[in-house]
Amino acid sequence: MHCPPSKLPKVGTTIFTVMSQLANEAGAINLSQGFPDFDGPAFLRKRVAHYIEQGANQYAPMTGMPTLREAIAAKTESLYGRKICADAEVTVTSGATEALFAAIASVVRDGDEVIVFDPAYDSYEPAIELNGGRAIHLPLCPPSFCIDFDQLTDAINEKTRMIVINSPHNPTGAVLSADDLNTIADIVRESDILLLSDEVYEHIAFDGKPHQSLLRHDELAARSFVVSSFGKTFHTTGWKVGYCVAPAALSAEFRKVHQYLTFSTVTPVQLAMADMLEQQPEHYLELPAFYQQKRDLFCELMQDSRFSFEKTSGTYFQLMDYSAISDLPDTEFCRWLIKEAGVAAIPISVFSEAPMDTKLVRFCFAKGDDTLRAAAEKLCKI
Ligand code: PMP
Ligand code: GLN
Repeated sequence: MHCPPSKLPKVGTTIFTVMSQLANEAGAINLSQGFPDFDGPAFLRKRVAHYIEQGANQYAPMTGMPTLREAIAAKTESLYGRKICADAEVTVTSGATEALFAAIASVVRDGDEVIVFDPAYDSYEPAIELNGGRAIHLPLCPPSFCIDFDQLTDAINEKTRMIVINSPHNPTGAVLSADDLNTIADIVRESDILLLSDEVYEHIAFDGKPHQSLLRHDELAARSFVVSSFGKTFHTTGWKVGYCVAPAALSAEFRKVHQYLTFSTVTPVQLAMADMLEQQPEHYLELPAFYQQKRDLFCELMQDSRFSFEKTSGTYFQLMDYSAISDLPDTEFCRWLIKEAGVAAIPISVFSEAPMDTKLVRFCFAKGDDTLRAAAEKLCKI
């Protein structure tokens, strides 16, 4: 028997797995793959244990536990001023990864074009390709990594089915402004183009600037799948619970895919997260300050290094320019950094189709302060 030709010939093991593995083998401090090295709130962990003991261990409803969908709807209204229907417009998924895939699979057909902005999170393109679509890569503009709206306008044609946006943006930390959303609305107004908005870092936006969810924008919300993840919000990336908010007609199509992708998501965790959202909203309200302290600490410690940087505007990632240290391409520089400095980072060129004329790597600062101090001390020596 011959294995059929790969449906994803360009895809290998993700850079996150590769770098984390190299970091573990070398005993390096792992600031590569994005995950906290501390636990989620004690209240949340206790509520999960409570629900497991109570016997909430069978399938959840396909669309998600009603209490969690209600809590998501309440949060959406209080933060973004949008009243949404928990029954028809909110679907709980097994992480944002599943929601992104289901949104794409529910609307992208053979020959459709989907616009993504490079550097783009790595799960978008495989989902587009597996559904017969083609990813059209538009580069964001360094150093601020803003969208070139003229280029976006030019890229749109009758094949354009969807535009994927991600704010706060992984890996650059760039955030979209309210003006950016208005410009996007102007660009798509006369078309049937849909938006997929990856907002997994919605609660990690800094310097007092509120996150500009598409759910704040009437026109855009009416044509958008908005995806988020509790992995980021509750420091529980391993629990893989996310969700998608979309108008009823889009949610109905989304659910047809979700129903056969995973059917439903882990029951006791959903119940505990509903309690957490309702009873401890201060957790997500205080998250920007929590991570801003870590960003500021890491940046302060790195002042004495040869890396140069602008403080990140959102996410728990900080880009740093290493051109004063090395001429190596970023992937090789990251391997060198593990060996020479004992710290792992993520090269960002791997998230772009076209070669990037930058020398930037991404550090994850979702770590205990002592880990950040130890990493910065090593990085300041090179
Ligand atoms: N989108 C972005 C931009 C991410 O950074 C991540 C995870 N780090 C995801 C989606 C996937 O989220 P989840 O772990 O909930 O699947
Ligand atoms: N999204 C995480 C990051 O950016 C990693 C997720 C994964 O490992 N697939 O580092």
